[in-house]
Amino acid sequence: PQVANQIAAGEVVERPASAMKELIENSIDAGATRVVVRIAGAGKKRIEVDDNGYGMSAADAELSLQRHATSKIASSEDLHRIASHGFRGEALPSIASVSRFRMQTASDGEGVEVRVDGGGETVVKPAAPRKGTRIEVLDLFLNTPARLHFMRTDKTEESAIVDTFRELALANPGVAMRLELDARTRFEFALQDEQARVQAVMGQGFADNSVEQRIEHEGMQISAWLGLPTFHHRDSTRMMFLVNGRVIRDKQLIAALRAGYRDVMFHDRYPVAVVRLEIDPADVDVNVHPAKREVRFKSPQTVRAGIVACVRAGIERMGH
Ligand code: ADP
Ligand code: MG
Repeated sequence: PQVANQIAAGEVVERPASAMKELIENSIDAGATRVVVRIAGAGKKRIEVDDNGYGMSAADAELSLQRHATSKIASSEDLHRIASHGFRGEALPSIASVSRFRMQTASDGEGVEVRVDGGGETVVKPAAPRKGTRIEVLDLFLNTPARLHFMRTDKTEESAIVDTFRELALANPGVAMRLELDARTRFEFALQDEQARVQAVMGQGFADNSVEQRIEHEGMQISAWLGLPTFHHRDSTRMMFLVNGRVIRDKQLIAALRAGYRDVMFHDRYPVAVVRLEIDPADVDVNVHPAKREVRFKSPQTVRAGIVACVRAGIERMGH
């Protein structure tokens, strides 16, 4: 199992940002309304995620570190209609196999602390009760030299963490979220409505230079916050896509957005926009890659046409 976990780790956890993402999504799945993330040394030294969710009993905490021990699939039917973020039961065992892993959690007033060092034995001890779960991932990839070597500079890993955190914040306005980098607060988002969260995440400049556009297209609901063409960008990182509440980075969606802007934007610029798509879960497959950032649509043409139509309608309202 140790080797299997390390192989899975290569899939699920490719860098500190992806480990952080898995932990935050677990917190959200556990009903947390507040998540605090503390990063040290660009996540290479330490990734801590502290939540106020349901927590786990000692037995569940131990089970959570066994491969495919997800609590989130009750039937095979669930596999087709996945509401929660996690559904593979791979993240925790994978992360714990390539780090020094510590978890404090509690359920029914009984606290527990779990430690795993580099995928070794799982050590479970009683601990003070607490609200929710706190997980610390220390020295990521300490025992997998190839992965360790593959990590980029602190600056690059830290910016991946910041981008990932912003995406998760955008997708989860109902969760208060804070990110600390080396003990300095980088983001502090209150629990807020969708509109306020978009503004907080994208910044005031975007809020002042965008229009909101909603359309329905072939049964899909599309709502978008579209940056004005004068508020364009030189890189492609300011386009955000949410599909059924999940952040997606997908070439087809990016291409569709750019196609919508085509007539008003220089070819070497990228729009700044948040596009939120609600689609029948039966028409979309999110289970393409363990990192879960890509999707496969049953009808990509329909999705593309919907996004283009939405952007065109928005641009018209901007007066272009
Ligand atoms: P998955 O999320 O795919 O189920 P994970 O390996 O990410 O798999 O987590 C394994 C299990 O551990 C989850 O199904 C959940 O029951 C439990 N778990 C993980 N993180 C938390 C948390 N922050 N709070 C409560 N339970 C958690
Ligand atoms: Mg998970």
